Amino acid sequence: MNTKMAPPRVFKNYINGEWVSSVSGHTFDNFNPANRRELVGVFQKSNQQDVAEAIQAAKDAYKSWRIIPPPKRGEILYRAARMLVERKEAYAEQMTREMGKILDETRGDVQEAIDMTYYMAGEGRRLFGQTTTSELPNKFCMWMRSPIGVCSLVTPWNFPMAIPSWKVMPALICGNTVVMKPATDTPLSTYNLVQTLEEAGVPRGVVNLVTGSGSEVGTAMMTNDDVRVVSFTGSTEVGRKVSAACAPTFKHSCLEMGGKNIIMVMEDANLDLAVEGALWGGFGTTGQRCTASSRIALHKEVYKDFVEKFVARARSLKVGNGLDPSVQMGPLINESQLKTVEQYVEIGKNEGAKLLCGGERLEGGDYDYGWFYSPTIFGDCDPQMRICREEIFGPVVSIIPCGSIEEAIEIGNGVVYGLSSSIYTRNVNRAFQAMRDMETGIFYVNAPTIGAETHLPFGGTKQTGNGHREASTAALDFYSEWKAVYVDYSDKLQRAQIDT
Ligand code: NAD
Repeated sequence: MNTKMAPPRVFKNYINGEWVSSVSGHTFDNFNPANRRELVGVFQKSNQQDVAEAIQAAKDAYKSWRIIPPPKRGEILYRAARMLVERKEAYAEQMTREMGKILDETRGDVQEAIDMTYYMAGEGRRLFGQTTTSELPNKFCMWMRSPIGVCSLVTPWNFPMAIPSWKVMPALICGNTVVMKPATDTPLSTYNLVQTLEEAGVPRGVVNLVTGSGSEVGTAMMTNDDVRVVSFTGSTEVGRKVSAACAPTFKHSCLEMGGKNIIMVMEDANLDLAVEGALWGGFGTTGQRCTASSRIALHKEVYKDFVEKFVARARSLKVGNGLDPSVQMGPLINESQLKTVEQYVEIGKNEGAKLLCGGERLEGGDYDYGWFYSPTIFGDCDPQMRICREEIFGPVVSIIPCGSIEEAIEIGNGVVYGLSSSIYTRNVNRAFQAMRDMETGIFYVNAPTIGAETHLPFGGTKQTGNGHREASTAALDFYSEWKAVYVDYSDKLQRAQIDT
C-alpha cells in the first residue's frame, strides 16, 4: 500500500493576469474547522509589496476596462455565471471543507454568487441614467454613471463566495478594476471565484487577488493613494479602522458590519412557524451570520409554549461535519470564535440569564478534531444584558420576555446595530407598525431575520453600516459616480440662472 500522502495544494495570488507567489516567500496553512487533521490548502502570506503590485496592475487595467462597452463586460459575467452553475457542487463541497457550514448552505452561498453574477451581467444593458429638461432653449441635459477607478474589496469568512461576489460583480459591470482580499480562514472560495472570472475572460489586471492578514494586506489596501473605493464587510471594530484609514484621501467606503438581530414573536403568531424560523435564523451557519436571529422578543402569553418547542427542536439538531448530509449544524470557524462563544455563555450565566439548553463545547470522537459547540438558548433575559446587546457570532440565542408590540420594538431598537429584524404575527396592522418603526435596514414578516435576495438592497443602519447598500441597483450607486452632462445646441452663450 502506498502510504505517501499527496503534497498539499499550494494556491497563489492572482496579479496582473498571472498566478504568482508572494514576494514574501511565506505561506499559511488553512485547515478544515470540522476536522483539523485535514489541510484544505496552502495560501500566500502576502505583504505590502504584493498589494502595491496588485493595485498598480488594477490601475493600469482600468484605462482600457472603463471604456469597454458595459454589455461586453456583461457577456463576460454571463459566461462566469454559467461556469459557476456547472461548478456549483464542487465549489460548495470545497466551501464546506474550508468554512464548516453544511452543504445545503454552501450550495446556497454559491447560488448567491450565481444570482449576483447574472443580475449584474444584465445591468450591462441597463446602467440607466436620466435625461431631463433644461431651463434654457436648445439645451439637452442628462446624468449618467461613470466608473470610479481601483476598488479594494475586503471580505469576511462566513459567506466566502457570496460576499466577494456582491462586491466584485457590481464593481466590474460599472467599469472599475479590483483588488480582492478574502479572510485568512476562507481564501479558497474567493480563489475559486477569481479563477472562474479569469476563465470567463476578464482581461489581465482587471481582477486581482491577494491573500494574507488584515493587518498587513488589508491595511495596505486601505491606505494606497491609487485606491478610490473601499468595500469592507466584517466586524464593526475593524470597520471603524477601515473608515479612519479611508478618511485622509476621502476614499469612498462601503462598510457592512456587525448585527444583533431580533425576531419579535407576538401572541397571535403561528407558533410552529415561529419556532422553525427561530431555529433556522438562530442556528443556521452555526449562528455565524451577520443577520443571525440572536435575540427573540417573546410575548409573555405564548412564552412557555414557544420555549418548550424551541428548546426541544434545538436539542434535536444534529451537529457535526457539514459534509455529512444528515448534519444540521456545522462547527464554529476557529478556536478563537469558539472561545468567544464560551466567554459569552459564562457572561450570560453570570448576568442571571437562564440557560435553557446547550452551553457546552461538544467533545469526544470526531468532535475533538473540530470547533463544535452545542445549540444554546438563554431564557428570561433582560435587554440590557451583554448577551442581548453584543454580537456573539455563534449558536447562542437570547429570549427576552415582552408584553406588547411597543415593548418588543423598543427592545429590538435598543442596540447599537441595525441590520435585520422580523415579526411573527397574523395581525396586518402590527406587521406594518413594526415595519415602519424598526430601525433596521432589512425587515421580515413571518420569516426569520435571514434570507436576503440579491435583487434587493442589503445593509444595515446605525453601527452596522455607513449608509450604503450592497446588491440590487443600490450597489451601482456605490460603484459608480453620477456625471451631469449639459449639451448646448443653440450656437450661442446661454447663462443658467441669468438669461432667464
Ligand atoms: P473581521 O472584521 O475580523 O475581518 C473582516 C476582514 O477584514 C478580513 O478579511 C480581515 O482579514 C480584514 N481585516 C482585519 N483587520 C483589518 C484592517 N486593520 N484593515 C483592513 N482589513 C482588515 O470580521 P470576520 O471575523 O472575518 O467576520 C465576522 C464579522 O463580519 C461579524 O461582525 C459579522 O457581523 C460581520 N459581517 C457583516 C456582514 C454584513 O453585511 N453586515 C456580513 C457578513 C459578516
